[in-house]
Amino acid sequence: MATRRPRQARRSPADLARTAISGLAPLLMRVRDGVRARPGWSAIAAVLVLAGFALGMLPGERAAETLEPKVIALPLTPGSAPPEELPSQLAEATPATVTDQEEQAAGGPAQGADGRPTPRLSDRAWTVVEVQPGQTMERIFRQVGLGPGLLHRVVNLDDYTRGLARIRPGDKFAFDIDDESGFRALRAELDEESWLFVEQGAEGLSSRVEPRSLDRRVVEANGVISSSLFNAAKGAGLSDNMTMRLANIFGWDIDFALDIRVGDRFALVYEEIWRDGQYLRDGPILAARFTNQGETFEAIRFDAGNGPDYFAPDGRPMRKAFLRAPLNFTRVTSNFNPRRFHPITRQVRPHNGTDYGAPTGTPVWAAGDGRVIRSAYNNVNGHYIFVQHGNNVVTRYLHLSRRDVRQGDRVRQGQTIGAVGMTGLATGPHLHYEFLVDGVHRNPRTVDLPDAEPLPAELMDSFLAAGRPLLARLDQFDPASPLMLAQRDQDSCEDDGTGC
Ligand SMILES: [Zn+2]
Repeated sequence: MATRRPRQARRSPADLARTAISGLAPLLMRVRDGVRARPGWSAIAAVLVLAGFALGMLPGERAAETLEPKVIALPLTPGSAPPEELPSQLAEATPATVTDQEEQAAGGPAQGADGRPTPRLSDRAWTVVEVQPGQTMERIFRQVGLGPGLLHRVVNLDDYTRGLARIRPGDKFAFDIDDESGFRALRAELDEESWLFVEQGAEGLSSRVEPRSLDRRVVEANGVISSSLFNAAKGAGLSDNMTMRLANIFGWDIDFALDIRVGDRFALVYEEIWRDGQYLRDGPILAARFTNQGETFEAIRFDAGNGPDYFAPDGRPMRKAFLRAPLNFTRVTSNFNPRRFHPITRQVRPHNGTDYGAPTGTPVWAAGDGRVIRSAYNNVNGHYIFVQHGNNVVTRYLHLSRRDVRQGDRVRQGQTIGAVGMTGLATGPHLHYEFLVDGVHRNPRTVDLPDAEPLPAELMDSFLAAGRPLLARLDQFDPASPLMLAQRDQDSCEDDGTGC
């Protein structure tokens, strides 16, 4: 059950709420526990999260309310067969007495069915069973000496336990069975971040969901681009997914399709999520720096009340009114060569846009929020779309294979409005993109646009308190090198004014 949750549970609002909280609870727990592994950075991560909480993540608080342990008491029926000796094969395979962090975090004293105190979950001697191909839950119950009657009652307890009826090979279940009193508890992996406990108490069976305590390790990576961003990132140990996330943070400042140069460099501090001593997945990027053609951009993750987002050290959002490139940079081919001398008209034509070579069908995004003022076809532009943004900026998208919006439509930044093609006067599939300010063509990759409003003054203190140590950490392993910066300036080139 490690990677899925019961279908019923997926539908339940309580479950959604629980999912929301389960990511945060372990961190909060870490704070409570005095921050074990890497005091400084864990504390910062925790401060970030706590700041987010304090700054009005109200959904989180509501989630906490819905997360009250769900206890459904059933009449006590001693229906389960008294446990016999564990099958020896099972006992050998699973000598696990689980004493990991999860148990320490979970469970308090309670009264058992016989009036004796039920052991804390941390004290339980769990017997772990891994589901083998072809096994049913009933068979597993039988293996550990429990009867079908008990299984029936467990499964029908609530929406969470109903999922126990659907198991897969590799799922792991842990049982606490007392020699005298029989079944005491069952633990299942509800999903990667939560345990489901079913316990036998004096009042009958009850179930509850507990967050598994995930270990968030703050790690860093950096690299210098010698061939491509993805190669440099791979060399730095980043997954392609993380590389995309890194690029997306800077997608409003840097055109990753056309403006990345040899010598560009990046550094980032991010979280890795570990569980049970094993790497589980990457967590969020906490801070990042990208130096592109000598210009350095920095971003810090911060929750100003609308969920975490990225802000420059001066408090201005990284998110801006216009994307630098209106398509996924990974689809852009480096060998598309815009020509000054137009191969079809055999004329030198002024070129007022940027050309992105990309496979036909590559989605084209609206560069900013706006309204479609033209969506049409002609022999020169092919299928084309013009979008009006605010009062003075118009963006144009030409040679499309497909148009997804109509004149008058409102579009959001990043919304797919069409697809790359080679309709009209085009020698190969590419997007011709124009950016006009007050009717004048400007280079969309370098045009200065009004800055977005910075964070409100009352948030700046907590933002800086969270961000400064992260920036200092970036400095530690990515010291700014004036020599490199000077060198890179000579490499930069601008290809405006070419023809397509
Ligand atoms: Zn062009």
